[in-house]
Amino acid sequence: MTAILINGHAISTTVRKEVETSAVKFLHTYKIKPGLAIVIVGDNPSSQAYVNIKLKRCAEIGIHAELVQFETDEKLDVIIKVIDNLNCRKDIHGIIIQLPLPGNLNANTLIDRISPEKDVDGLHLANIGALHSNRAGIIPCTPKGILTLLKTLPVSLSGKSAVVIGRSLIVGKPMAALLLQENCTVTHIHSYSENWEKFTKEADIIVIAAGIPKLLHAHHIKEGAVVIDVGSTRIINDTGSSVFVGDIDSGVFQKAGYITPVPGGVGPMTVAHLLQNTVEAAWKQQNV
Ligand code: NAD
Repeated sequence: MTAILINGHAISTTVRKEVETSAVKFLHTYKIKPGLAIVIVGDNPSSQAYVNIKLKRCAEIGIHAELVQFETDEKLDVIIKVIDNLNCRKDIHGIIIQLPLPGNLNANTLIDRISPEKDVDGLHLANIGALHSNRAGIIPCTPKGILTLLKTLPVSLSGKSAVVIGRSLIVGKPMAALLLQENCTVTHIHSYSENWEKFTKEADIIVIAAGIPKLLHAHHIKEGAVVIDVGSTRIINDTGSSVFVGDIDSGVFQKAGYITPVPGGVGPMTVAHLLQNTVEAAWKQQNV
């Protein structure tokens, strides 16, 4: 069997078109664009690259995006004051803090300062709590995007056996919670899990977010499984170029039923759902 590629580029384009329609309607209704503020601290080149993609995608679909840049050694209370100001602004509906932060800053302190209704990365304690108690809140962009991908497949999620590899707050934990809400039987694997292949070999769906190239091999999965590769690790390839690779070995492509490529799978879905969360937050803040 050769796996069918799940085309994240194409699916994310559809999502962005829907979000654009909603953003245009918002502008016509309220005479302002949905607004997103991106807070970045320091000059990490990868963070800068991710931020540039977000700014570009916002501009394309009619979201006003503002970059708030701080020096690496900026003091916590200065950043907090700026977040407080963004929380009060009527033209800013979403606020994100580009991670990782320099070591001197505690990400949770800053994220929890954002008003929960403007926390469009879904990382505020209130939004995490909402997700894990089946209440309305903002869902983190990467797992939300993965669920959108899964729902395009001719595979029902309910009752399926799903394995999530990785337990970060941004991907693994919310992914497991979403799959549980879809009535999957979820097994959660992490760096301390022993003999985890006994679970992946039985799984109908595997979402891997470990950040370790070639962690998952063909002998770890069952024939026809759906495999979602979240991993995105920058390496230098044989020709000396810098490229991003996922967490799965190429042999998995011969055994899986459906699979996401890297690049072009999960990555574009993450950005599309950040735009979606921002426009949805804008409507909600008008009580619509
Ligand atoms: P993280 O480092 O916070 O978490 C990695 C997780 O993998 C940990 O929970 C750890 O327990 C688990 N892990 C590590 N080694 C393992 C092993 N040998 N066996 C089983 N589990 C193991 O990372 P993260 O922020 O969740 O990101 C994971 C990967 O996904 C990274 O490559 C990151 O770049 C990528 N990512 C991609 C997107 C996207 O939009 N494409 C978004 C977020 C993260």
